[in-house]
Amino acid sequence: MRKKIVAGNWKMHKNATQTAELLNELKTQVSKEDNKEVIVAPTFVNLVLATSLLESTPIQVAAQNMHQAESGAYTGEIAADMLKSVGVNTVILGHSERRAIFHESDALIASKVDTALQHDMTVIFCFGEELKDRQSKNHFNIVENQLKDGLFHLQAKDWEKIVLAYEPVWAIGTGETASPEQAQEMHEFIRETVRKAFGSDIAEDVSILYGGSVKPDNAKEIFSKPDVDGGLIGGAALNAKDFMAIVNAI
Ligand code: PGA
Repeated sequence: MRKKIVAGNWKMHKNATQTAELLNELKTQVSKEDNKEVIVAPTFVNLVLATSLLESTPIQVAAQNMHQAESGAYTGEIAADMLKSVGVNTVILGHSERRAIFHESDALIASKVDTALQHDMTVIFCFGEELKDRQSKNHFNIVENQLKDGLFHLQAKDWEKIVLAYEPVWAIGTGETASPEQAQEMHEFIRETVRKAFGSDIAEDVSILYGGSVKPDNAKEIFSKPDVDGGLIGGAALNAKDFMAIVNAI
């Protein structure tokens, strides 16, 4: 049975003190449950703090990005091995902000995926259409191409380490959410696309998260859809009350 996952993407928020405060609150409230995973993704500089504070809790720590090379002259970048060495086994790749603001292409993201998998890391692979794509009814094509270009070179066994996060760009940080029906329609399409290429077992096992203005008051309805296996949460992951309400909505 596929896993239910709620992951908090903290983006460029929270210094060390604030990170410790939020994690200390969360760790008293998240209990271990089979088939349900809670993940937090603080900034790079606070990952060591996070893994040490969350040691022996069920909360997992993810990085928000990483570089595709093993090491080298890449000033300001972080390698997979460095993340692993501080206990970070999961990485978010292909977030729309990385794609749009930092010009990450599908090919670049695919090579980051490969590096992460070589290091036995779990990848939360983000993708989703922009508003203009939906308005021009091109959203299924865009999503299918992002999926193919980012992940369809993988082997069947690699899919154990892949979590998909469908995030329509028009819904991220805007307060505008895809309706539960729009989310379900796209998640079903994504699962079907995976099924055609990799077969039913992989399609049924892969968790597909929805991201884009998930809040305590809409989480339950979105999570009730059969192909929505959890959420990637931005703004509402920044305080314990809202994040826990979302975690408990699944
Ligand atoms: P949001 O962000 O919940 O603030 O819309 C989601 C994301 O970017 O992952």
